[in-house]
Amino acid sequence: MVTTWEDEKVKVKEENGIKSLISKRSFLKGEQICCVEGEEIKIPNRYSVQVSDSIHVNVKEPVMYINHKCDGNIQLIERAFYALKQIQLGDEITFNYNETEIVLAEEFKCFRCGQLVKGHKSKAEFPCLEIS
Ligand SMILES: [Zn+2]
Repeated sequence: MVTTWEDEKVKVKEENGIKSLISKRSFLKGEQICCVEGEEIKIPNRYSVQVSDSIHVNVKEPVMYINHKCDGNIQLIERAFYALKQIQLGDEITFNYNETEIVLAEEFKCFRCGQLVKGHKSKAEFPCLEIS
């Protein structure tokens, strides 16, 4: 396991070729985790984050390495991510891509429920949302 990026709140770790965002301290619900910064683009790509109907932000580290989880622990409010629930030191930071993206540039399967994550236009049911 290698740390490839960090600030005082979070770090990007790489393990078996997969990068993920890990908390470096605990966060209370509502605390800001990181900001969505980068060039504004009109056409989404696999790393961009949708911030309005027509604006996507071409984010860099660390936001580009936040992995999907149907019941992720952060939410996007305007241009920043905030804790949706208490996050402990060492927890992976994840968010539900269906919440921010209308249509994903590249669909992928949720690694837990296997459902295709496509953006919130799709009407798929996500079993992992019912588990949590
Ligand atoms: Zn899922």
